[in-house]
Amino acid sequence: MSIESTNPATGDVIETYDETDASERDERLERAQAAFEEWRDVPIETRQRLLVDASDVLRENTEKYAELMTREMGKPIEQARAEVEKCAWVCDYYGEHAAEFLQDEVVAGDPNARTVVAHQPLGPILAIMPWNFPFWQVFRFAAPNLAAGNVGLLKHASNVPGCARAIEAIFRETGFPEDVFTTLLIDSSEIEAVIEDDRIQGVTLTGSDGAGRAVAETAGSKLKKTVLELGGSDPFVVLEDAPMDETVETAVQARLLNSGQSCIAAKRFIVVEDVYEEFVDRFVAEMDEQTVGDPLDEETDIGPQARPDLLDQLHEQVQETVEQGGEIRLGSERMDREGTFYPPTVLTAVPENAPADQEELFGPVATVFRVPDEEAAIEKANDTRFGLGASVWTDDLERGERVAREFDSGLAFVNELVKSDPRLPFGGVKDSGYGRELARDGIREFVNTKAIWVQ
Ligand code: NDP
Repeated sequence: MSIESTNPATGDVIETYDETDASERDERLERAQAAFEEWRDVPIETRQRLLVDASDVLRENTEKYAELMTREMGKPIEQARAEVEKCAWVCDYYGEHAAEFLQDEVVAGDPNARTVVAHQPLGPILAIMPWNFPFWQVFRFAAPNLAAGNVGLLKHASNVPGCARAIEAIFRETGFPEDVFTTLLIDSSEIEAVIEDDRIQGVTLTGSDGAGRAVAETAGSKLKKTVLELGGSDPFVVLEDAPMDETVETAVQARLLNSGQSCIAAKRFIVVEDVYEEFVDRFVAEMDEQTVGDPLDEETDIGPQARPDLLDQLHEQVQETVEQGGEIRLGSERMDREGTFYPPTVLTAVPENAPADQEELFGPVATVFRVPDEEAAIEKANDTRFGLGASVWTDDLERGERVAREFDSGLAFVNELVKSDPRLPFGGVKDSGYGRELARDGIREFVNTKAIWVQ
């Protein structure tokens, strides 16, 4: 069996890769287990130094990795370069902080005993990753886990096998011991067997809630821990005192980053009555200015959608929303050109329970809701089964922070687009998943927090 990598901008096959067959999969798991037994005893300072070396390899080859991502999944090239830099940042970050995050904590307990909390690695961790940030999602997992002494097995999305192979090669080139980070080129139907394998100690998945549920069910039946970073339908709340120039400019970026294919993209724009007309007019005008085109062209703002089926799904969600009464302010027609392109689209007057109201729209489609006031805005923001990110725009920072605390979300930003940052925990509530990545919380997800009592 083989896996094809296809350029979504042209439909051309880039390369065909052999799938990892059952016996090779078993061998890789065995080697990962053996690698763990040694890796866990390597001093954390050495593991940290290797991560810093990995950041050098990333930066030295930025153009190569950026082009690989852009060709495989269509990300605009400038954003692909920024993604490589962010991967280098997360390697540097854990390269600097891992030991501090995992150091023993001496606890004042029984006066006759020394009581310590230690954080020890668990073993081989399976990472099931998506195509939308094909480098970042993987490094966000790998940097803290390799630093903690775990080893990683990557099952990457089937449309980015080249990225999967390149990431494995980066760790090897950097000098990480072989098998500390391994790629399995397998179909998602084969994941169940891997999760169930006794050598796997934990599973992390970033992707759709459907995939998350399937993985959690299998892992749960084997009592294995999972971290799930699933979709989102982030609200972007505009209050009457929002700084409008900055708000509109950021609203466009927040919706269109990665051609609209981001879990933390702003998807539902919730605007209070007083500034609704002004916001919609300016937002639509700005969205209309964005250039759709070849993602390798520096001028392109919106590249192709990553796969034809994802484009079909997005268009169906838009059509269904319009059939239910949603109004089209911009876009919404499929583009008459080669490749999986979709135009920037703005919908208004979207009825409750229409797809654009309740589902995740993974593409350059914004939905704008009109609400009477702040209270109604918060209610609308929370009226979703997702709870990943949320933002609020206001001139009053105290008010902004108060509203931020009322969002049912794992991330809440005031006057800034929702973004991931290695220094802050990242993850969601409700159907957006559970567990946290990044920061101190992220490195402590797959460790054994062990209480040691010495008397
Ligand atoms: P999926 O959730 O299907 O894919 C994400 C990863 O999970 C891939 O590696 C995929 O492998 C794997 N996977 C898929 N099904 C299963 C399963 N049953 N058990 C275990 N692993 C599985 O996302 P899609 O790429 O199909 O995108 C669909 C929608 O998901 C998007 O429109 C978007 O709404 C959401 N999504 C959210 C992301 C986020 O960042 N939170 C990222 C990507 C998608 P394979 O590729 O081989 O199927």
